[in-house]
Amino acid sequence: MVDFARGAPTKGSLDVTWNHGTPGRRGNGEPKIQVHYYDEHTVILRQSKSVNYEAPFLYLLFGNDRALLLDTGATADPERFPLREKVDRLVSIWLAKHPREGYELVVAHTHGHGDHVAADGQFAGRADTTVVAKDVDAVRLFFGFGDGWPERSVSFDLGGRVLEVLGSPGHHRAAITVYDPRTGFLLTGDTVIPGRLYAFDYPQFLASLDRMVDFAESRPVTHVLGCHIEMTRTPGRDYPLGCTYQPDEPPLQLSVQQLTQIRDAARSVAGQQGRHVFDDFLIFNEPSLGDQLKLALHGLAARVTRRSGRAAG
Ligand SMILES: [Zn+2]
Repeated sequence: MVDFARGAPTKGSLDVTWNHGTPGRRGNGEPKIQVHYYDEHTVILRQSKSVNYEAPFLYLLFGNDRALLLDTGATADPERFPLREKVDRLVSIWLAKHPREGYELVVAHTHGHGDHVAADGQFAGRADTTVVAKDVDAVRLFFGFGDGWPERSVSFDLGGRVLEVLGSPGHHRAAITVYDPRTGFLLTGDTVIPGRLYAFDYPQFLASLDRMVDFAESRPVTHVLGCHIEMTRTPGRDYPLGCTYQPDEPPLQLSVQQLTQIRDAARSVAGQQGRHVFDDFLIFNEPSLGDQLKLALHGLAARVTRRSGRAAG
């Protein structure tokens, strides 16, 4: 049995250059899924921008009894985005080193937006596997929040690796934040990212940020890790929505200090609807219908472009 508590939080590596797309439309130079081992038991994956411009990050955490896959990316088609195959391989590599019977996989989500749940179907019928549905009732029930949602945090045991799960609605009704004591990771979904923070329910968004800051002040948090990179390294400048080549990305990881800055910034624009630009992030306080339409159109446009690209290639 692996002793996940010993020496926690343990140091791992974020010495990685994330694949950030390729110029032009082809995008054949990148693997569809990038895999980075933070440590032997902790894997960060990124979907390629050549498959979907959202290029979300996914997290795979191994415990003694089960692994947790947090999010399934933006593409359902296993040919274009072979997530199941990749995860199966990563699980077999881990099990080869740590053999055991009946090892489980839990597939859950930071939140239910389409670019985080698309490949759920690839895990249907997989042995010893639970796929948690994306709606808030399923999330509350599975993690055992009961009436404590979203104020209370609950624990979720992977087998000697006991995660803490916080309800963090605001960007999405069913959004959660996951703390892993082993690595000190605070996995924040799309609520906190180096990018565009879309707060669809502003009071809930603010309350969630407050809880996250309070939580981070009482635990050793090493890295605050979200699911996208959308900023450039130029303060206040984000890559345009739908961008498939981001050569100048800042790191994925944020510090607790930056988390606190985001909370403070969010407080400062409470009651002011619209787009607010800060150095390391943008806040959309209850995005306007125009902004929401742009988001929707972009998802569609990107998909259409990629499909015709594939047919041509
Ligand atoms: Zn989202």
